[in-house]
Amino acid sequence: MKSLDLLWELQMHSNMLRDAKRSFQEMANGKEIRILEGKLKQTERELMELEEKIDSNEERLNKNNFKLKEYDYHLKRIEEELYNGNISDAKQLKYLDDERRSTEENIEEKETEILGQLEEMEDLRQEFSRIENDFKDLKKEYSILIKGYKAAVKDFKSKIMESKRKTEDIISRIDDNLLERYDNIRSRKGNAIAEVVNCKCSGCNMMISTFMIDRLKDDDEIQFCESCGRILYLKR
Ligand SMILES: [Zn+2]
Repeated sequence: MKSLDLLWELQMHSNMLRDAKRSFQEMANGKEIRILEGKLKQTERELMELEEKIDSNEERLNKNNFKLKEYDYHLKRIEEELYNGNISDAKQLKYLDDERRSTEENIEEKETEILGQLEEMEDLRQEFSRIENDFKDLKKEYSILIKGYKAAVKDFKSKIMESKRKTEDIISRIDDNLLERYDNIRSRKGNAIAEVVNCKCSGCNMMISTFMIDRLKDDDEIQFCESCGRILYLKR
């Protein structure tokens, strides 16, 4: 293989390696993973808070149900006393009747309160199951992401190894002086070798003389772009 072809190959591999490193660096930053981890923690917190709310609501509900039973029992006792006909004293009858009325009011109040609590409980349970589903989805997404990440790391490592091996092989076949010039231009211009396309240098877009193109066609002599100084390459 001619030196120019080798240089062209070298540049291709170096650029590929550079791009692979860049995208790997981005992934290694793990921004996506960290965002997802944050979401998972937040959702877990929400679930715990909801669970506490549901527990305390249940406790209040149980207390109220107990209270309601007490009122019911109390009402039954009053009604028994009122209607068994043993009491004839008007004052006492009035007292019992007032007591009956106020207990009935208490019962109604408690029942309304319990109904409200049951509705609230239903809402809380629905919200809990919705967030629980979100949490499951997030966990799935997270495990897929981690799997992909591991596969990408493996793939990247093998690509790097392959690219390094090829680069070393190419370098060993290029003349030291030429390599030095190549490195020198590359450090200043990015790409050191530019393909001639449609009689133009693809590095700076300047026209290349037919004389120079003929020389590029004929031999392996190194020609530089007069405008940008890059090594010119003509694909055969
Ligand atoms: Zn140029």
